[in-house]
Amino acid sequence: MNEPVSSPQIRQVMEALEANNMTAHYLPRADQAVAFVQQLIPEGAVVSNGGSVTLAQTGVMDHLASGRYQYLDRSKVSGEELGRLYRQVFSADWYLASANAITQQGEIYELDANANRIAAISFGPAHVLLIAGVNKIVPDLHAAVRRVRETVAPKNAVRLGLKTPCALTGQCADCKSPDRICCSALILRRQREALKGRIHVLLVGEELGY
Ligand code: SF4
Repeated sequence: MNEPVSSPQIRQVMEALEANNMTAHYLPRADQAVAFVQQLIPEGAVVSNGGSVTLAQTGVMDHLASGRYQYLDRSKVSGEELGRLYRQVFSADWYLASANAITQQGEIYELDANANRIAAISFGPAHVLLIAGVNKIVPDLHAAVRRVRETVAPKNAVRLGLKTPCALTGQCADCKSPDRICCSALILRRQREALKGRIHVLLVGEELGY
């Protein structure tokens, strides 16, 4: 369910993702995302997701919990049970999340506090779907790191009520805060041939998430 891509920049990113053995999709509007997910992921599949404003904004998070799938829902558990769920997720059929940044060269950059999200994206679930608005596209990995430090981490720290320097000032202070939100990083440069098509990236022609 791909729609014609009018922007040369988006087309370039999609071609670069495909050249890196990831499957690229495009939709002009966020309100098309749920129908896309419904078409891509079979009913009854075991699914889970990482924390994501984009998944919430598009309605995909609610769709995962609609009863159509076997949903490993991280929002319903805590403590040791959450730790067990994070490990269960590795055998899911589909894992959904967003990207913190996608470069023009078709690389995906993710930052994480506990590393459960980047672990599942890089290994485990049979398929991964990353949904990202056009605001996540950056020229290169340097810009991706800058984007996370100057935009993603501060905004998410405020959203989650974390006491980090960036939540107060909007700037990264390379902190050692107990609430530090950016402890581990993942760069997906390319998928090996055997994993070709495991990772799907849905680019949406609107601004979504941070
Ligand atoms: S290192 Fe600390 S201040 Fe910098 S972005 Fe991460 S949480 Fe914010």
